[in-house]
Amino acid sequence: MAKILKPNNNLKPCKSCHEMISKTAKTCPHCGDDAESNIKIVMGIIGIIIFIIIWIIIKSMTSQFEQDIQNNIKAYENQAKTMQKKAKEDYKKMF
Ligand SMILES: [Zn+2]
Repeated sequence: MAKILKPNNNLKPCKSCHEMISKTAKTCPHCGDDAESNIKIVMGIIGIIIFIIIWIIIKSMTSQFEQDIQNNIKAYENQAKTMQKKAKEDYKKMF
């Protein structure tokens, strides 16, 4: 008696017949309907797809950023080489 009156946290209403069924039940024992919502699965798949898209965007952005840094380094290296060359020529001219 007391057991029935106690609210059971392991139970949830079935989406089809609204009978109380176990939260862990894959199918409803009353109507045989899928207890696990298909919407949840679809939302999960959409979530994964969105996550992959964001990851690809971030990845491409970072690679572009890395490319920019590499280009800057190359530009500075070329500048340094030119300056070094010029300094050597100037040194030769002085003596
Ligand atoms: Zn049911």
